[in-house]
Amino acid sequence: MAVSQQLLEYQKVDAELLKIEQSVAGSEERKKFMQAKKFMEAAREKLDAQDKRAAELRRLRDDLVQRTEEITRQIAEYADLDEMIGEEGGDVSFYKKNAQQLLERLRMVKGELAKLTADVTAAAEEYERLKKQTIAMQKQGEEYSKKFKELKSKHAAEAEALQQKLTEIAKAIPKDVMARYQQKRKEKIFPIIVPLNGDRCVCGMDFPLAQQGRLDGGNVIECEHCRRFVYKP
Ligand SMILES: [Zn+2]
Repeated sequence: MAVSQQLLEYQKVDAELLKIEQSVAGSEERKKFMQAKKFMEAAREKLDAQDKRAAELRRLRDDLVQRTEEITRQIAEYADLDEMIGEEGGDVSFYKKNAQQLLERLRMVKGELAKLTADVTAAAEEYERLKKQTIAMQKQGEEYSKKFKELKSKHAAEAEALQQKLTEIAKAIPKDVMARYQQKRKEKIFPIIVPLNGDRCVCGMDFPLAQQGRLDGGNVIECEHCRRFVYKP
């Protein structure tokens, strides 16, 4: 049998196998499984980033609390203002100015603390949201991993039978031709063998007459443009 006939026979069975592969690849089961898988991969990084952010916020908060305490302590020293002035006979306006400055600083630090507290709350909410999503996606992943496996095993017998048929047909096809066929299949070129249509390949590539002569006797040649096997019908 001519190579073109062998390849056509092979391709006919292969098309059935491809149909099964495509129905599995395009299934809801696979989509949901992959969606969960991708989410879980990204979630790990997101959760890590949020942990770092939480640590940073804690450090900022501790720092502000410390500054608040320090200023409060300094202000407390002015509680005995009358006494201080009495003892040292100092300038009242100088002490008042200092006390006012401290109060101003305290107000600013408290403002920063309030803003930081809002940031902490927002970060905690975001973390909770992500945690809930992660739990839901983990469930989806487990559920659809199972469903996807079931779907594959449902088609396994049929795919296996077709694969056996292909192995049988391939025995008669030259090894190098078969290897080139499989390479194209991997590259998702299909159909892989096509008839010459007038002087052209299906992709529109022109086949000069000299080249067409090489197709005699059921031979195939590769199209330079789309790389399909071309035969003369
Ligand atoms: Zn072509």
